[in-house]
Amino acid sequence: MAAKYYIGIDMGGTHSAIALVKGLNIVDKSEFATSISRGIDNYVDRLKEAFEEMLERNGLSHGDIISVGMGVPGSVNLDTGMVEYANNLGFNNVPFRDMVSDALGIPVTLDNDANLAAYGEFLLSKSHAKSFLMVTLGTGIGAGIILDGEIYRGVNFAEGEIGHMTIKYDGITCNCGRKGCFEAYASAKALVKMACDAMQSHPECSLWKSSKIDGKAVFAAIEQGDPVIKNVMNEYTFLLSEGLLNIINIFQPEEIAIGGGISARADLFLPDVIERVKQKVYSRDSKKNTIIRAAQYGNDCGLIGAARI
Ligand SMILES: [Zn+2]
Repeated sequence: MAAKYYIGIDMGGTHSAIALVKGLNIVDKSEFATSISRGIDNYVDRLKEAFEEMLERNGLSHGDIISVGMGVPGSVNLDTGMVEYANNLGFNNVPFRDMVSDALGIPVTLDNDANLAAYGEFLLSKSHAKSFLMVTLGTGIGAGIILDGEIYRGVNFAEGEIGHMTIKYDGITCNCGRKGCFEAYASAKALVKMACDAMQSHPECSLWKSSKIDGKAVFAAIEQGDPVIKNVMNEYTFLLSEGLLNIINIFQPEEIAIGGGISARADLFLPDVIERVKQKVYSRDSKKNTIIRAAQYGNDCGLIGAARI
């Protein structure tokens, strides 16, 4: 009988997930801690364990698997399978594709996680956009670019690093070596930091009652109508829209999906961002303009993108 299943693996900075995929559906999924501090070999051993358990649990063998794809948070050279740089994992020129392929006993396609998330969102949302961008707001800002249904690759596979576009001249120093990078101002982490900074000078801010200041707490404060955090959000949507405007003015993509954990509460910030873009985009008089929407498939898009790459 012909193989019917795909395997998608998403390696995150803290958690990793592996999924068994049929068509565009996840039929089984498990997660484990990335804990890369325990060493790369140890990680690969644990991944192998999760892979074999998944096959066993579903009564499958290697012959039932069409392909295995894996996303990593870093630059992957598709010719060599090397992870050339992944600052969150401390990887530098690691032959990761071959390490994982050897461990699983099956060829693995390795790619950048933002590319795979974009590809997964594109497939799952059945987008017909000829130029599609997914912008992921997380610890940093990542992007995947899909042109005519295919992931766009730069000359060295390090394309789409829109988080490292300068948005503020001589601004915050970034670990990429430049100053004022977009992700220091408009990532989910930046939003939380802005809220933390604002509450310091406002003892009346409702965030003082939260045990933990994270994205959830920030959105809860907005829903309660906290004026301090509403101001923060106003500044944040301005910064996010300025970065998106740069991208749109240059590329005029057909569609942009905004992903990352905070996109689950896109209702509290995206309409404002869309309005700002509409007012300021260079092409505001055009009949056709970029559609900006929230990504709809959360973490699944990374797994589906990996499985179906
Ligand atoms: Zn940077």
